[in-house]
Amino acid sequence: MRTEVLAIGTELLLGQIVDTNSSWIGENLAVNGIDSYFQTKVGDNLDRIVEAMRLCADRSDVVICTGGLGPTQDDLTRDALARLAGVSLVRDEDMVETIMEMFLGRNRPMPSNNLRQADRPEGARFLDTQPGTAPGLVMEFDGTLFYALPGVPWEMAAMMEGDVLPELRRRAGISSVIVSRTLRTWGLSESAVAEALAERIDALEESQSTTLAFLASGVEGIKVRITAKGADRAQVDSALAAEEAQVRAILGDVIFGVDDETMEASVLKELATRGLTIGVAESLTGGLVGARICDVAGASAQFRGSIVSYASEIKFDLLGVPRGPVISEMAAVAMAEGARKVLGADVGIAATGVAGPVPAEGLPVGTVCLAVVIGDPDDGGVVRSEQLRLPGGRQQVREYSVISLLSLLRGELLALGDGGAPPDSLTTSA
Ligand code: ATP
Repeated sequence: MRTEVLAIGTELLLGQIVDTNSSWIGENLAVNGIDSYFQTKVGDNLDRIVEAMRLCADRSDVVICTGGLGPTQDDLTRDALARLAGVSLVRDEDMVETIMEMFLGRNRPMPSNNLRQADRPEGARFLDTQPGTAPGLVMEFDGTLFYALPGVPWEMAAMMEGDVLPELRRRAGISSVIVSRTLRTWGLSESAVAEALAERIDALEESQSTTLAFLASGVEGIKVRITAKGADRAQVDSALAAEEAQVRAILGDVIFGVDDETMEASVLKELATRGLTIGVAESLTGGLVGARICDVAGASAQFRGSIVSYASEIKFDLLGVPRGPVISEMAAVAMAEGARKVLGADVGIAATGVAGPVPAEGLPVGTVCLAVVIGDPDDGGVVRSEQLRLPGGRQQVREYSVISLLSLLRGELLALGDGGAPPDSLTTSA
């Protein structure tokens, strides 16, 4: 079965948006064992969309179109499919009702334009999965099956997973189960991860049923994806678990999460295991650390708060940082200790540094000092600080600071052991 992708939208040609839909579809076809041979982009022009579709029909068994299914005049995918097949568009009364109900349910008036979305080329059917108002379509033309999906990425993905991939797998006679698991790492470069896993990847090449791939994800670190194929879910789950154990044995604690688990979720879990609360003092990150911690549902059990101590006076007056330079490991430790005390937390963490665009205190852009204080430093507590030189512009330096600080804290928490050996000063507060 030969499959291809046709992304529709002038924005894609002009570089105003990146065609992540085609990448997502390509990746998911591959993971499901379905061959795909071409990816094409075409603007919102009826003649050229039909021309592109005709070419797709000549060379492929299945074409997955994305975009151009909205309610406005420049959403032309429906018209193009009708023109291609030489049929007219018919308004589907059941779909009219579905769309009207969706608007009613959201208590919003429905612009009459939206009824265009209930049009389908004669002979085409709508897909069952319909997460937004735009229904997906499937139509056969000259032996080729055309799927038309919306451009909005999450709507497209929901239809692929709900309808398209299961249908294609059935057609291609693929009965095996394929599942992926992503291990998220922080602290190693892409080449270091590649080198560490090279032998494992070679060993797996012979097995064919399990594969390892890694993906550099910038401020999200390096992701290692394990994909396993098997006769049923139980077999695949056990293959994934076995491979995860192998990768963990090689990479160790740099793996902070699985699939969607973020660094902040991982840190909160480690704090909760040890019964510790946390307070934050932020300078160059301006609240990003606190915001990311708050993203995790249930953070309130551990998170006391974050003080955005941007001006030096706030560091001195509120946090008790000694007057003087404020971009140093010593200042970071004083900020962390100040946050711990002021916020009444067991753990204090802090970030101070030069986000740019100009140097500060004679230090270059990207100089960042981080600190972690666990328990009372005068009573056996842990004090750890670090000075880094982070790459990139202002936003990148700030984002790297957040994950680096959380990672530093995670390392110190793991070093405490499984909640077994907190500093003396914590045995009362924890
Ligand atoms: P809907 O009517 O459901 O909003 P649509 O089918 O009309 O969707 P478009 O109007 O083409 O889709 O695109 C809607 C939005 O979806 C775009 O503004 C863009 O943000 C996103 N989008 C469209 N195509 C792609 C693509 N190929 N990759 C990533 N994002 C896309």
